[in-house]
This record gives sequence, structure tokens and C-alpha cells, in this order.
Amino acid sequence: MLNNKISALTIVTLFLLLLSSCAVNPVTGKQELMLVSEADEIKMGREFYPNAIWGGDFGGGEYRDPRLKAYLKGLVMDIHGVSHRPGLPVKFAIQNSSVPNAWAIPGYVVITRGLLTALQSEAEFVFVMGHEMGHVSARHSAGALSKKQATSAGLSIVGIALAAAGSGYADTAVKAGELGAGLVLLKYSRSDELEADRLGVEYMTKLGYDPVNAVKAHRNLEGAADEYLKSSGRGSGNESFMTDLLSTHPRTSIRLLQISKLKPSEGRLRGDGTGRKKFLQMTSGIKKADRAYKDYYDTAYRTAKKDKLNEASSIIDKGISIHPDKPPFHTLKGFILLEEKKYGPAKSAFDRALSIDAGYQPAIRGRGVSYYYRKNYSYSRGALKNAIGLYPGDAAAHLYLGLSYYELRMPREALRYLTPYAAAAPKDPVVHYYLGASHEAAGDTAAAYNEYVRQLNVAPDTREGRLAKERASSLKQGLR
Ligand SMILES: [Zn+2]
Repeated sequence: MLNNKISALTIVTLFLLLLSSCAVNPVTGKQELMLVSEADEIKMGREFYPNAIWGGDFGGGEYRDPRLKAYLKGLVMDIHGVSHRPGLPVKFAIQNSSVPNAWAIPGYVVITRGLLTALQSEAEFVFVMGHEMGHVSARHSAGALSKKQATSAGLSIVGIALAAAGSGYADTAVKAGELGAGLVLLKYSRSDELEADRLGVEYMTKLGYDPVNAVKAHRNLEGAADEYLKSSGRGSGNESFMTDLLSTHPRTSIRLLQISKLKPSEGRLRGDGTGRKKFLQMTSGIKKADRAYKDYYDTAYRTAKKDKLNEASSIIDKGISIHPDKPPFHTLKGFILLEEKKYGPAKSAFDRALSIDAGYQPAIRGRGVSYYYRKNYSYSRGALKNAIGLYPGDAAAHLYLGLSYYELRMPREALRYLTPYAAAAPKDPVVHYYLGASHEAAGDTAAAYNEYVRQLNVAPDTREGRLAKERASSLKQGLR
């Protein structure tokens, strides 16, 4: 987020202002200290959502299937109706990511493709969503979210390897990026988790689902997480990712035991108490799609990140030939073409993705980057602005928008985008030279000199490094 420092400050100020305010917790009914008002919760949710749904390697945006979405949204609204905060607005989305995950923030509740396809019944889905919505009901999310926002580094620098193609740009940034960043992992305490489990069971029971399915949901989540970690080849080197993923979905046998001890309130079951048949029927399409994403998209993406472009290209080509209707497939192809410096074909691949889904953000960014390399800077500026509008934390789009402004000889605008990018990716091999040149053009010689020196520290041997050296020594003479 561009204004990240400002919003972190605002949040701190807000905390101070609200420190004395008390409110009734919707779940416990007790008076307690409320750090964040409901209006602020909703505002934080709205700011956080686009970065969460698009961010990092694990973003993916929304999975588009109107019929499936309407069906699941109906279930979510049922839960919402029996929850403790039915007055909050709520939007539901399926996130197009293979990582098994579910999350809720004020105003939004989301399940990933990877988790949805691991669940076996409505009852399991209702428990998982009820658990997440329970975090929001009990105001756990507000606290976790404000912590996350206040400490977040701002721009998401993971997943830009392929976006920052063709030049070696941002390679360093990507390697510096943490695996798992961008994945929505709000940290809750153990007691919060148990409370959310209790609420999930309470809501499912009220809706007539047999609570024994809560335990099944947990087992299926565990299974999906294990399978995901195995298939992604994550070894012991990435323990933190695994710990994070599983700690947000604690899976101790104690917890399962506690769920199974929860007594369902008296009530009639809805049908057979599972809704399994309809759920399996409705999710059969996304299960096929999930297989295709795992076989082609995920595999090609990982292969491309290892710089095996030919191999990645043939995997995604095969995927496209079988599944021509998936925007991420075409977009990945576009990024591989960018990396191979084939800018025209890359743009065509992004255009194909956008002809299927005009709002697919990575393809909009990709189109902007292809315009930039074809030296069409006013077009790249337009596309990259759109990309940032949809996903304000998009680091690569900031870099290329800043560079486009630099080429358009608008140094102040260039600084507006390059500065937060450099803060997120201080080891980027080129950005400091352009920051220096933009400062120089804007008349700030001292700031320019500092950036040239930074460029020399980070990457003295690139073209930008050599240019920075020249400018630094000429400025030094001027400064004497
Ligand atoms: Zn939880």
C-alpha cells in the first residue's frame, strides 16, 4: 500500500483515541475494551481485502463460477443470519489459489479453491466458514488485522519474479521475499481458535448440520495441507511456512477432542445433517479445475521460478491446449514470454486472458509491462495505474509505473511510485539509479547523490550501476 506509513500512523493514533472506549462483545455479552470501532473494522477490511485476494504467490484473485458462488453464498448468508453480528455487511468469495486456506475479515469471508475442493459436505463447509465468521463475530479479526496492517511492510514483493521480466529487474527483490507472504494468515491465540471452533459448531448446529462433521472438516483440512506441502516440494527449509499455515488452523488432537465434546443443541437436522450429495454435485466442476491448476499452472509457475523457461513454457502450453478458458494460464504464458523478451507475443497472451476476464489483475499488470518494454510509456502508465487500482500492494506495478513516469519525464510522479517500491525491495538491482535520476531531475541533488551511492552498493556492475557511478562522481564535483 502506498500510504502504508500513513495508515500505520493513523491506526496508532486511532488506538490512542479509542483506548478508553468500551463496548459489549457480541459473543460474550461482556463489556470489554474495544480498540477498533465497527466502522473502522469495516474500513480496515475494505482496505485489506484487495491486497489479500491478489497478494503474493498465493493470491490468484477470485475464482469465477457464478452458479457455485451463488450456492455457497446462500450457505454463508445462512451462517451470517445465525451469527452474533448479522448486521455487519458480508461478501463471499472463492479465492483462486491452491493453498488450502479460509479466512474472514470484517466484511469478507473467503475460502480458497484448494480448501473448498478438499471438503466433502455442506456441513463441513458451514463449519469452516462458521469458524472464520466466528473470529469476526467475536472481534478477533479486528485485532489481528490491525496488528497485521500496522506491522506490514506495505507492498507485496513476492510473486513479482515473472512480472518484472526481461531485465533481471527485481530478481533480488524476489529472493528477499518471504515464502508465504501475501497469504492471509491472521494470527489468533489458542483460546481465540477454540472460541471460533465453538462458534462454528454452534452455528452449524443451529442450521441443522450434524456437528460431527466439524471433526471431519479439520481432518480434511489437515490432509489438504499435507498434500499441498508435499506437492509443492517444500522441505524442512520452509518450516516457517508450514508452521504458519498450520498454526492458523491448529490441528492438535486436543482440539479435535474438544470439538467432539461439544454438545449439539437440540434441534432438527437439515436433511441427513450433512448436505453431502448436493455439495459434491455442485463442487464437481471446481474439483476438475483444481486438478488442472495443480497439474499445469502450479507446476509451470514453480518451474519458471527456477528459471527453467522452456520447460515451464511447454507445461503451460499443454495446459492451455486442454483448458483454453483459464485467464491465469494465458497470463503465466505471457510472463514467460516477457522473460524471454518476446514483448509482442507476451502482450497477445495477456490480451487473451483479459478477453476471458477483463478484471484479471495480473494480466493488466502484464500488459502494462509489455507496453513499457515496447517503449509505449503512456499506454504502460494507463495499464499499470489500473493494475494498482485493483491491487494497491502490487510492487511490480509500482516499479514499472515509476519507470514509465521517468521515461515520460515526470520525475515527481516517478518518485511517488519508485520510492515505496525501493522501500519494499531495497536490494533491487536498478531502482536506485532511477530514483537518483528522478531526484536529480526534480532538483534535489543531495537525495540524488544518496540514491546513486545506494545503487553502487547494491549493484555496481549493471548498466544502471555504471550510470550511477558517472552521475555520482559528477555530482560530487558539483557539491564541492
Ligand atoms: Zn481460526
